[in-house]
Amino acid sequence: MSKNGERLRHLYKGGKYRALRKRVFWRDGHKCVNCGATHNLTLDHITPRTQDESLFWNEDNCRTLCDECRVKNDLWMIHRGELPRPPRLEGA
Ligand SMILES: [Zn+2]
Repeated sequence: MSKNGERLRHLYKGGKYRALRKRVFWRDGHKCVNCGATHNLTLDHITPRTQDESLFWNEDNCRTLCDECRVKNDLWMIHRGELPRPPRLEGA
C-alpha cells in the first residue's frame, strides 16, 4: 500500500496536477465543499487514488477541501483502514 503511494508521488509534480487543481477549485467556487472556508484549500480525492491512476485525474473524483477538513477526512479514512497512515499525521 505505501509502495503504491510512493509510486504515485510523482503525479503531484508538474503542470498537469496544478491544472487539475485549478479546474476543481473553479468548479467548487474556490471554497471548501465541507465547511465553506476560502483559505488553505487543497485538492482532495474522494476515492483514494492509491490503486488506480485514472482516478487521480478524474475531476469527478476530486473536490475542494480546506486543510482542516482534509486532515479530519484523512484521519477518518485511516481509522476505517481505507488509507495508509502517512508519516505527517503521526501524533496528530
Ligand atoms: Zn473545510
